[in-house]
Amino acid sequence: MADPNHAETPRSLGDVAKALQGCRRCGLWAHATQAVPGEGPAHAPMMLVGEQPGDQEDLQGRPFVGPAGAVLDRALEAAGVERGRAYVTNAVKHFKNEPRGKRRLHKTPNRGEIAACRWWLDDERRLARPRVIVAMGGSAVLAVFKRPIPILKNRGRAFQLEDQAQGFITVHPASLLRMPAEADRLAAFEAFVRDLKAAHALLA
Ligand code: SF4
Repeated sequence: MADPNHAETPRSLGDVAKALQGCRRCGLWAHATQAVPGEGPAHAPMMLVGEQPGDQEDLQGRPFVGPAGAVLDRALEAAGVERGRAYVTNAVKHFKNEPRGKRRLHKTPNRGEIAACRWWLDDERRLARPRVIVAMGGSAVLAVFKRPIPILKNRGRAFQLEDQAQGFITVHPASLLRMPAEADRLAAFEAFVRDLKAAHALLA
């Protein structure tokens, strides 16, 4: 899709990554270091969509390289999914945060910001043409399905999407990091791995 800020319709994921840096479709660019594009092979069969870049992702310019990315990597390995077969991206490409002393605290993007940034996710979907899209967490569900869907009731089943890909819902890996009890974290990790395995099985 052509962005009114940019004359050319992106023809590759590399074009999207470049164009993102000049995006002013919402106000989040003003408080972030850079836009963080998705990453992965051009025609990966599976796309994993998270919420937004975190502190580390914002600084490094790459998705899922912080603590939530470490959980995702472990879960993908446990599920037998090669990270190299997946295109990993976010619903929102700039880090929404609130300064608190020397730290920057994560703030959940609102519906308007998710809708504005869907422009880029739709380009990534059009160009990468994944067969399965896994929405991880509520913001990703809104971005991929264009409506809220309760995650815990609907995880583990496939939905047909408009672009012929199959949509799949699961939790965001960062949600596991917020669980204080180890037993809960372990159970949540196992459930997350089950979801990734089930999504991957759709490619068979
Ligand atoms: S968050 Fe998305 S829509 Fe908003 S400025 Fe960044 S790239 Fe553009």
